[in-house]
Amino acid sequence: MRRYRALAPGIVLLLTGLTLPASGQQMQRGAHRTPDGLPHVDRSRLEHNLLTLGEIGRDPVTGGIERVAFSAADLEARRWFITRLEEAGLSVRIDEIANIIGTLPGQNPEAEAIVLGSHLDSVPQGGRFDGALGLMIALELVEAMRDLNILLSHPLEIVSFSDEEGGLLGSRGWIGTLTGEDLEEEYHGRPLTAILRDLGLDPETFSQARRSPDEIAAYLEVHIEQGRVLEREGLQIGIVEGIVALDEYEITVHGTANHAGTTRMSDREDPMAAAARMVVSIREEVEAQGGDLVATVGRIAVEPGAPNVIPSVARFTIDIRDPSRIILDRAITNLIDRFDSIAREEGVMVGWETLVQIPAAPADQMVIDTLLEAAALYGYPHRVMPSGAGHDAQSIARLAPMGMLFAPSVGGLSHSPAEFTRTEDAVACADVLLRAVMLLDQKLP
Ligand SMILES: [Zn+2]
Repeated sequence: MRRYRALAPGIVLLLTGLTLPASGQQMQRGAHRTPDGLPHVDRSRLEHNLLTLGEIGRDPVTGGIERVAFSAADLEARRWFITRLEEAGLSVRIDEIANIIGTLPGQNPEAEAIVLGSHLDSVPQGGRFDGALGLMIALELVEAMRDLNILLSHPLEIVSFSDEEGGLLGSRGWIGTLTGEDLEEEYHGRPLTAILRDLGLDPETFSQARRSPDEIAAYLEVHIEQGRVLEREGLQIGIVEGIVALDEYEITVHGTANHAGTTRMSDREDPMAAAARMVVSIREEVEAQGGDLVATVGRIAVEPGAPNVIPSVARFTIDIRDPSRIILDRAITNLIDRFDSIAREEGVMVGWETLVQIPAAPADQMVIDTLLEAAALYGYPHRVMPSGAGHDAQSIARLAPMGMLFAPSVGGLSHSPAEFTRTEDAVACADVLLRAVMLLDQKLP
């Protein structure tokens, strides 16, 4: 190993995609303080933990991470993480919905906990950083506090939420919105109830995973951006102002099925042609609104679906998101008008069905200000921005003041084997999180 390092650092770089620490830092053991008194986490330890976790469930051919919730690889990652938490001095418990909770006692045992969370599970063929980065930074924060003898007044909890990717299972357990139906959901061919029993849990007790707002002083989550705003602007840190409101609709356009050869163009009531115009009008509406609004048509189908038949029905979905519910609702109102006039012109009928409506989850202003203060202390370039993706933080925002940090995703890629975040950016996020937790420890009651 030593020989490889000395002879061919470039090869190590190529294989791991990670930059090697500068020679001065390579000798560094543990976290340190710079002369200005600011704490800095241990870069090589953070990098090592990210790489080690990134080997669990890694597809050797594609390099993608196959750690879908409660798969063998996810269970292996859970065991590895529990051991890491215990080695870092936390006491670990598994709650009724299989969330892993590591607790570091505070000097004031009466105080509510500062909670740091994210997830170990991945999408199929996911990347090494989605979820993992937040937990590895939380772990490094505790290790760095130990190195630097930093004691908190508040208890600190590190939480790995169960099945984030499948629909925020674990964090919904905390806010009490799970139902018996969620427990019957199948994972790898078996209901969740059976999986929970395998883990030594009693599925009947799932509702007891619920947490009370007076147990949690604040919730913080570090995550990869999964977009390219930070990279484009040359920034190291995103401070999330909130998680967007999200609506999903299914639009059904009814026309008249007819012969593709004998029906003159002027005689058609073609729902597919109308749907095509509607899809284009969505982009026009979103561009007219500007700002952070985004909308996607991800699924479209026609009936009967034959090459030589004018369809009778076209159906498509709309996924539309904005940090502001007001802007989102205004866009929807305008789209209803646009679709109605297209339908009139095309001689078809249009119907809307709501599939999903998720409210926006704003971050807490005091937490945002604290994260801004910490980022400014280090001089790491940063900005405030919305999160277009859902995260466990949107659940926990209902219980406690919430804040999130984003680390840049190279090329904006995520949910992909090519997902990558540079170590120096991960370190910047970890430093800021550490300092922010120390500041919050003083500010929070
Ligand atoms: Zn994630």
